[in-house]
Amino acid sequence: MRLNRRTTKLFYNDAYLAACETHVVKVDGAWVELADTVAYPEGGGQDSDHGTIAFHDGTVLRFIHAKKMYGHAAGVPGFPDIQVDGVVLHQIHADDQHLLACLVPETHVKVSIDVTRRAALSVSHSASHLLYLAVGLHRPDAVADTLGCHIKIGGTRFDFGVDQRFTAEDLGKIQETANELVRRDLAIHLSAHPDVPDARVWHCDDHVIPCGGTHIERTGLIGEITVRRKSLGIGKERISCEFPHAHIQTDRYHV
Ligand SMILES: [Zn+2]
Repeated sequence: MRLNRRTTKLFYNDAYLAACETHVVKVDGAWVELADTVAYPEGGGQDSDHGTIAFHDGTVLRFIHAKKMYGHAAGVPGFPDIQVDGVVLHQIHADDQHLLACLVPETHVKVSIDVTRRAALSVSHSASHLLYLAVGLHRPDAVADTLGCHIKIGGTRFDFGVDQRFTAEDLGKIQETANELVRRDLAIHLSAHPDVPDARVWHCDDHVIPCGGTHIERTGLIGEITVRRKSLGIGKERISCEFPHAHIQTDRYHV
């Protein structure tokens, strides 16, 4: 199904925009579609933003999840798995759902995000790429069979299909490579395909990864990374990392 409307994803125009004025397009159960949003919807393994939708009369509804729906294939080489355009739906907290009756199409609202959460998730997403690069360097066989990832506050993990388990030596090398990338405090920047703004690329040093997530600007903000493994049964392993000393930078956000 291809919709003839789309939510404007303002987080791609300005990664530090914490709020915007917009209007309601549709309400469906607990889910609110807005014409524009600053909220990053769950995608690419990254957890969604949380935040609020406020009316001019002071009523505030909290949203606890955001998701993308009705996207379509990018249609440009290099982005086989991503969905572009589509709409972003905001899930209203159960305790605030009685206020949904006030929201009708064209209602003017202000949508804001929890910037501490966003800043932490951006650290996690950049850390996940360093972990993935490090695994790719030492265990390219695992990266060739990547099963999934989850990027959450304070940690990130990948699941891999493997014929050979990760050894303690593998983990040591992966952790050292990831920390070397942190210590070099490399610049991170994002670019968009000239014709398809949702088709985005992460650049760091000479590494390039197609990615629509949110990120920090320097690897040094991540701080020391610790890497662990967990068996998920025969032929499946989870590699996760944590970075308890990360610098969560909220001062760049503005309204
Ligand atoms: Zn990514």
